[in-house]
Amino acid sequence: MSRVYNFSAGPSMLPLEVLETAQKEMLEYGESGMSVMEMSHRSPVYDAIIKETEANFRKLMNIPDNYKVLFLQGGASTQFAAVPLNLMKTGKADYVVSGQFSGKAFKEAKKYGDAKCIATSEDKTFSYIPEITPDMVREDADYVHVCYNNTIFGTKFPEVPNVGDKVLVADMSSCITSEPVDVTKFGVIYAGAQKNMAPAGLTVVIIREDLMGNAREDIPTMLDYKTMADNDSMYNTPPCYAIYIAGLVYKWALQNGGLEAMKERNEKKANILYDFLDNSTLFKATADKKCRSMMNVCFVTGDADLDKKFCKEAAEAGFVNLKGHRSVGGMRASIYNAMPMEGVEALVKFMAEFEKNNK
Ligand SMILES: *Cc1c(COP(=O)(O)O)cnc(C)c1O
Repeated sequence: MSRVYNFSAGPSMLPLEVLETAQKEMLEYGESGMSVMEMSHRSPVYDAIIKETEANFRKLMNIPDNYKVLFLQGGASTQFAAVPLNLMKTGKADYVVSGQFSGKAFKEAKKYGDAKCIATSEDKTFSYIPEITPDMVREDADYVHVCYNNTIFGTKFPEVPNVGDKVLVADMSSCITSEPVDVTKFGVIYAGAQKNMAPAGLTVVIIREDLMGNAREDIPTMLDYKTMADNDSMYNTPPCYAIYIAGLVYKWALQNGGLEAMKERNEKKANILYDFLDNSTLFKATADKKCRSMMNVCFVTGDADLDKKFCKEAAEAGFVNLKGHRSVGGMRASIYNAMPMEGVEALVKFMAEFEKNNK
């Protein structure tokens, strides 16, 4: 077996220990006589799995009791519609467009009401996070939507934006569980699980209870948070296996010190890369220093052909998926929780070597 260092933005690396446990339990989970993939989602044995997964997620994220956790399907992209359909009571919502995904969320919301872009960083190819102050938010807006970590451009909100007493909704697909967050500052947090928590197929929503039950009447049942909450994410068949793996990942994170420890390790990993980039004569980080992402590190050489050569040689050396998003080019190293320190150290060593050989 030769596992590579996989810098994919998502689906992405999972902790090796998690994969090993899943492998051990693949054919028979506990004494159930079957794989988790084969179980009824209504069986007692699966019920214990989903309950334990939720309990560990709550512990890991320190989620207060007045928030529901939903395990859904459809990816974060489905939430771009679910959020306005559930939360637009007066029909107005304010959006911060700081990257491609927040742009898509904004566009989707416009279908359902008066969505307004209150700040954007499009003028500089989304290389920074625009400043948000409470006076920018419309008084009668139902919520403010942000994308907390911009996966494609490698920027992150340096702190929770101040939107006054407005409900803050955050797409945290690419940073959830990478560091502690104060959940009480948010009305809704959602995330596709395939970046930092599980294989694709699972979307996690954390929602304050009082925000449910106000959905538009014509909302598809499957998108109604209240329906999903009232049925403990079992209105229909949930993504059973992805939830099980998420449970293993949460256990792994707790055993490894929880989110404080994840943050410390993630900062170290990101600093190794950014320090190298800041001192390099060949490579250059593209994100504004004040809002660099710890999870997605974007960089360029300034020469598209050289970028290509780098990605090719890196892949041959066992550092795969370093190509930047197809819309921006360059390189991107996604270094989520599961990327070991050694992976980043080895990458930097390889980059130094490449720099020497391509002067
Ligand atoms: C990947 C990603 C999405 C899209 O997620 P899907 O699960 O593919 O719909 C949305 N927002 C952010 C921030 C992402 O990183």
